[in-house]
Amino acid sequence: MLEIKNLHVKVEGKKILNGINLKFEKGKINAIMGPNGSGKSTLANAIMGNPKYEITKGKIFFNGEDITNLSPDKRAKKGIFLSFQNPSEIEGVTIFNFLRMAFNNSKNQKISVFDFQKLLKEKLKILKIPENFSERYLNQGFSGGEKKKSEILQLSILNPKVAILDETDSGLDIDALKIIASETNRVMNKEKIIIVITHYKRILEHLKPDKLFVMIDGKIACEGGHKLINQIEEKGYGWIEKN
Ligand code: ADP
Ligand code: MG
Repeated sequence: MLEIKNLHVKVEGKKILNGINLKFEKGKINAIMGPNGSGKSTLANAIMGNPKYEITKGKIFFNGEDITNLSPDKRAKKGIFLSFQNPSEIEGVTIFNFLRMAFNNSKNQKISVFDFQKLLKEKLKILKIPENFSERYLNQGFSGGEKKKSEILQLSILNPKVAILDETDSGLDIDALKIIASETNRVMNKEKIIIVITHYKRILEHLKPDKLFVMIDGKIACEGGHKLINQIEEKGYGWIEKN
């Protein structure tokens, strides 16, 4: 279980999260929605341990262990993964090399180039990504959709215990969205936690989240299920009372 207790986070001196309490249970798909700038990506980055996001109060526990002060690297080793809303471009590093390094790092093992090629080939096929994609430099000159596919390829290769998908569905055409949703469903099992941050009902129709949390002004304003998703689709966020 991933548990967030009274989390307060500052970014560049500005208070963004103001006391978040959340429990994400194993075997569940969770969705987070909320207006732009409400702090969803900040929460994702704080869970991942991005040092830009300063935790001023509160704690994060993963399977009972306090991970509030662990480095991002150690969190990755524990199986926590974040698919970035705006993945960065890395010059001179191919997707192949990047993924192999990330795989070795997260699993604490060294997979041979040959074995990794096999694994990657299998995943590229599932995601309907052309094989030469892995020879490109990470995210360089990628279209929005290609960046998202490269993120989901990472998810597929790393097979983490906790996957946070920050607007991975944004900017995808319908076919790409379906592939990404079905891959997310495929990696899901009763040991895993998936947290999907999204603005759209469409991906949630594929993923059928167990719970939806709505974030407003750095707080969880309410939670619900399918009905709440429809209400937000219809009426936006204005009617939800701030907590
Ligand atoms: P959301 O993902 O819900 O749209 P964010 O967490 O990205 O919201 O942003 C919440 C607020 O924090 C915004 O006002 C945003 O400008 C600010 N913020 C987030 N990340 C940074 C950053 N790295 N540097 C400066 N401000 C940031
Ligand atoms: Mg965001």
